[in-house]
Amino acid sequence: MQESYNAIPDGYKKGKTKYIIITGSVISGVGKGTFSACLGTLLKLKHGFNIAPLKFDGYLNVDAGTLNPYRHGEVFVLDDGTETDLDLGSYERLLSENLDKDNYLTGGKIFKIVIDKERKGDYLGRDVQIIPHVTGEIKGFIRNLALKRKADVILVEVGGTAGDMENEYFLEAMRELKYEEGAENVCFVNVTYILEPVSLGEFKSKAAQLGLRKLMELGIQPDMVVCRSRNPVPESVREKISMFSNVPVNKVINMYNVGNLYHIPLFLEDLNVDTSILETLELESKHSKDFDKWKAVAEKTKSFKGKIIIGITGKYTNVHDSYISILKSLEHSTANFGYTFEVKWIETTDISSLEDASKVLEGLDGIIVPGGFGERGVEGKILCIQYARENNLPFLGLCYGMQLATVEFARNVCGLEKANTTEVDPKTNHPVICILPEQEEIKELGGTMRLGGHDVVVKEHTLAYKLYGSALIRERFRHRYNVNTKYIDQLEEKGLVFSGKAPQPLDTDRVSVNPPKRIMQIAELPEHKFFLGAQFHPEFTSRPLSPNPLFRGFVEACLGKPIKEKADTKKKILTS
Ligand code: GLN
Repeated sequence: MQESYNAIPDGYKKGKTKYIIITGSVISGVGKGTFSACLGTLLKLKHGFNIAPLKFDGYLNVDAGTLNPYRHGEVFVLDDGTETDLDLGSYERLLSENLDKDNYLTGGKIFKIVIDKERKGDYLGRDVQIIPHVTGEIKGFIRNLALKRKADVILVEVGGTAGDMENEYFLEAMRELKYEEGAENVCFVNVTYILEPVSLGEFKSKAAQLGLRKLMELGIQPDMVVCRSRNPVPESVREKISMFSNVPVNKVINMYNVGNLYHIPLFLEDLNVDTSILETLELESKHSKDFDKWKAVAEKTKSFKGKIIIGITGKYTNVHDSYISILKSLEHSTANFGYTFEVKWIETTDISSLEDASKVLEGLDGIIVPGGFGERGVEGKILCIQYARENNLPFLGLCYGMQLATVEFARNVCGLEKANTTEVDPKTNHPVICILPEQEEIKELGGTMRLGGHDVVVKEHTLAYKLYGSALIRERFRHRYNVNTKYIDQLEEKGLVFSGKAPQPLDTDRVSVNPPKRIMQIAELPEHKFFLGAQFHPEFTSRPLSPNPLFRGFVEACLGKPIKEKADTKKKILTS
């Protein structure tokens, strides 16, 4: 019986993939994810490497689906339906790549793998232990990713900081990884934080020193230290950190707050972060010209032609992280036109009349009603939507926003009094939004919604078609309710256009429900400047270099520009 658990998958060759392990010290939430994603951008776009990121989160949830976005930030949904934390969104956007379940690992997921294997008898005869079994499965997970993605470089971001009980076994696995793969194949970068107490008016590096010491106690010697700070830190602080961490001073870099995200990869390039890491990993650049495109967009964001003001209905607390993908999507679209934007957060529990709504929405260029659950603030959201519809104010509804726009239209245009979603009023006489048939029996809450990427058939001669320029698109979903098939005719008769629908159901799907189920995925109003709701989340597929078409159209309307048509390159006409 061998002492170490073999975590090397078939076909794996040592040295083919290099690993950059990014850890944190002092405090989390200071931009470790941003640093990692921006480093990935630089390595991919400037050096032509195939990069695969992996985010490790120490909590015992199997995925992020059951986390409260107001506590933990937005739940980001991948195309394969994996519910992850917001850092995966940052990686997808910055690397312009679709990621999947293999790019995300939580403590819960790794323990589930180990316990499931133990029950199957895979470790028969052994006492199952953190070392070598849990650490072994972690290394196996990473090496599988390397094989599957044929990655040149894997960027591993370890959530939390050194010293947390939650990630200690993970850091141990990374220590072992370097020992097994060889020093030239694994590079450790520690992102630390330099305090600048207002009362002292100077920088203090003590917390960073202690954080680094903690990391080294775990047997990890960083190859590079990234000092995060608000303002530029003096050379003397970097020298001190260098001395305490055995890292040459030219590899102790200072990433202070720079303007916007687009500039961070350029900033890292200026500090030679990329070349220094390539040197550690003995990697030759494959030189790519793609970084020029990035630079061009970054250039556009140096100064803006103007600003639009967008209202977003959402709770005040911690809003930035809870709606990060929406904010990023607005940034992609406005930057593309050379504009910037400001958000006015709208607390809809305070809105109880159209007059209230008109006051709150005054002076805004457009309004977004984002995804959500439950009844809180719903009536206020419906009033805002009514105001936007009646006053030609650009409106974009995302998931719940689309469902509530349908409720509003049913009540105020179709005359269906007290129409509602059964999520809010299970006894309503007009359940225009109802639970998806396949969701009715589900009792467990984790990973059970209709999740991930699905096809959308787009109707020709509609706003959606104009924007996407395609009759078949794919977008990401996360919902339990949908437009009730029984009301579609009534809604359409009064002018609501369902311009995006799920593909025709298969005959086998038809038998169970009558009339046959077909999910309405985009709703729009033709005469309006821009009034569109999507059952999916377009914010999950917007990228800096290719903004999502719905956001692009919405921003165009907010800017008062005519909406540009996108040519249908495929001209694939499907029955809609
Ligand atoms: N609560 C709605 C549903 O479950 C909308 C979900 C969402 O906005 N993501 O269908």
